[in-house]
Amino acid sequence: MSVIVRFAPSPTGRIHVGNVRTALLNYLFAKKHGGQFMLRIDDTDLERSTKEYAEGIFEDMDWLGLTHDLTANQSDRFDRYDQVVEKLKAEGLLYPCYETADELDMKRKRQRMRGQPPVYDRAALSLTDEEKAKFEAEGRKPHWRFKLSGAPAEWEDMIRGPVSIDTASVSDPVLIRGDGTYLYTLPSCVDDIDFGITHIIRGEDHVTNSGTQIEIFKAVGGKAPIFGHHPFLVGADGKGLSKRLGSLSIRQMRESGVEPMALNSYLAKIGTSDAVEPCTAMDKLVEEMDLGKISRAPARFDEAELKGLNARMLHGLTYEEVKPRLTVQGLEVSEALWAAVHENIEVLPDLKAWVNVVEGPVTPLTEDQEFASKALELLPEGEFTPETWGTWTSAVKEATGAKGKALFMPLRKALTGLDRGPSMENLLVLIGPERAKARLRGETA
Ligand code: GLU
Repeated sequence: MSVIVRFAPSPTGRIHVGNVRTALLNYLFAKKHGGQFMLRIDDTDLERSTKEYAEGIFEDMDWLGLTHDLTANQSDRFDRYDQVVEKLKAEGLLYPCYETADELDMKRKRQRMRGQPPVYDRAALSLTDEEKAKFEAEGRKPHWRFKLSGAPAEWEDMIRGPVSIDTASVSDPVLIRGDGTYLYTLPSCVDDIDFGITHIIRGEDHVTNSGTQIEIFKAVGGKAPIFGHHPFLVGADGKGLSKRLGSLSIRQMRESGVEPMALNSYLAKIGTSDAVEPCTAMDKLVEEMDLGKISRAPARFDEAELKGLNARMLHGLTYEEVKPRLTVQGLEVSEALWAAVHENIEVLPDLKAWVNVVEGPVTPLTEDQEFASKALELLPEGEFTPETWGTWTSAVKEATGAKGKALFMPLRKALTGLDRGPSMENLLVLIGPERAKARLRGETA
């Protein structure tokens, strides 16, 4: 069987780390099995879907390197869905219902009061033609429900193992709203059949839907793909991410300077039995991909851990490796500067502060100008080399008696305007004699 999977976001907002984990699992699964990855835009909700959000999805997926082999927009396929709807109506599997949202609410309340599950009572199935005509005459527009069989829907889930959904305890799903628009349920099944989707990997919020969709797949004339439902992400505090997803959009991640491969490395591994490690290329993630490694417990998404992973990834990069990323970020950083400071950054934009330390202007942090002036007198003449710092600080130590932190910190603060940073040997060479002298005089340079 040649594998075809899909990631099917709705373009009603920017995609976030939760969506992307689903996308990534599908992508890696496709690559692992030499299959194809489809990016499907679920834009049946024409009011809430926008072109900008759809473009944003492509942009974010591109940035992550999750390239697709096929793509389609559901909004281009309404004729096809309408055709299927006619078939389902003719077979009595899709039936019109005239209850208003308030009426349905009342029904559910009554059921709860009687201790019954709030499952739709199928009252619409026994409406006579006259009753329907009366509703229509009142101006009511029907919504359409799919008639479930009431039998259990069973499958072997790639992540959850054997699953059984009792369709008798689930309401017949609404496939078409009163205003004639489609919910994602039917178009999704039609597309999965038409595009030959072999596996559906998605969040566990879809488990019940999968039970009903198995019957819809059959009714449309196909077979349900193999399912895998992964647990949700939670935050470091163990709470759901839903309220914070805005700030966890891929766009925000990109703007805050997170490396796409750090995010991929993180999202591929959290909630699995593998260790979280920085991977600079997809190959390793593909190789290690195995849905069986995904735990049944929610995966913890901890931004601090992601930042730490990002830092570890950058600390391991040579200048040659990072160069293309510097270009993308619009950063002009020499090889010497990269060598001197890269172990002190968490994200690439942190480099800007170090470019500034080298090129100025830096306002020295001088507490004791007398000490700084003494150090200035002892500064070796000529061009600086990596040995300059050692020679110079030994001389300052001898002349002033200062040692340890009392020796190094005032010099660091005067030269960089900061109280922490990478070792000074290489940084001093980059700052150079002119700026070093000025800063030791207490001047902004
Ligand atoms: N557009 C649907 C969603 O985002 C797709 C679900 C699915 O993967 O089948 O929930």
